[in-house]
Amino acid sequence: FTTRKRWVIGNWKMNPNLAAAKNLTQALITELSTTPIQQCQLAIAPTHLHLITISSLIQHANIPSKIQLVAQDVATQRHTGAFTGDISADLLIDAGTEWVIVGHSERRTLHHEDEALIELKLRAALDAGLGVIWCVGETLSERESGQATAIVTAQVTAHTQLLSIIDPQKFILAYEPVWAIGTGRTASPEDAQQMHATIRQVLSHIRPALNETSLLYGGSVKSDNAGLLAQCPDIDGALVGGAALDADSFLQIAKAFD
Ligand code: PEP
Repeated sequence: FTTRKRWVIGNWKMNPNLAAAKNLTQALITELSTTPIQQCQLAIAPTHLHLITISSLIQHANIPSKIQLVAQDVATQRHTGAFTGDISADLLIDAGTEWVIVGHSERRTLHHEDEALIELKLRAALDAGLGVIWCVGETLSERESGQATAIVTAQVTAHTQLLSIIDPQKFILAYEPVWAIGTGRTASPEDAQQMHATIRQVLSHIRPALNETSLLYGGSVKSDNAGLLAQCPDIDGALVGGAALDADSFLQIAKAFD
């Protein structure tokens, strides 16, 4: 028996413009008002620019289960000040955000975010009261050279001190093999399950309370592969990129995890 929450989270990245983001949110609300998702928690991550508008649409929606709002990034600085272009956790909360994605492979690669910077972002978010959707995952060459488990374990244990004090309610971990993100190539349910079991062991070893952490898989999750992933005992949901841009696909994935 587990009390672990199931989650399906849509990362919209730098995709829909304002009109499309509103349409997508409205399509989700309309579908959910007739066909609710019962157990699985839904969340969406629009760009910073659209958070306030989407937050207002979600808050006024008449649906039985709430869609939670996620930001795609957060500043390392906690306080207001001279940080041109940055957006703090407090400002994200002010805009209606409850969670933030940290450690996504696109941030690690395109913005050279390393474990030290990731730690600052995690702490800034958690200190302010945001929950974190913390991403880890190996590259293709790391997997092919048999290092996947070691790399992912190192990405988690780099933050052991933080994990020993983190509020388990504010922490979701997403395993996203880099070679599976946006490539149409999903990890097999067996490989994903194996890595999830390893991560769960690493977390429980750091602190038994972290055994209940929701572990999401991400990397080309679609409506036609979500069913098998959802059957894996240590996969508690999905972080979805491309397929989250279509309301029907996103909700079919959510149904698979419901
Ligand atoms: C992601 O970027 O978190 C992701 C999993 O993307 P996609 O579903 O498009 O592979």
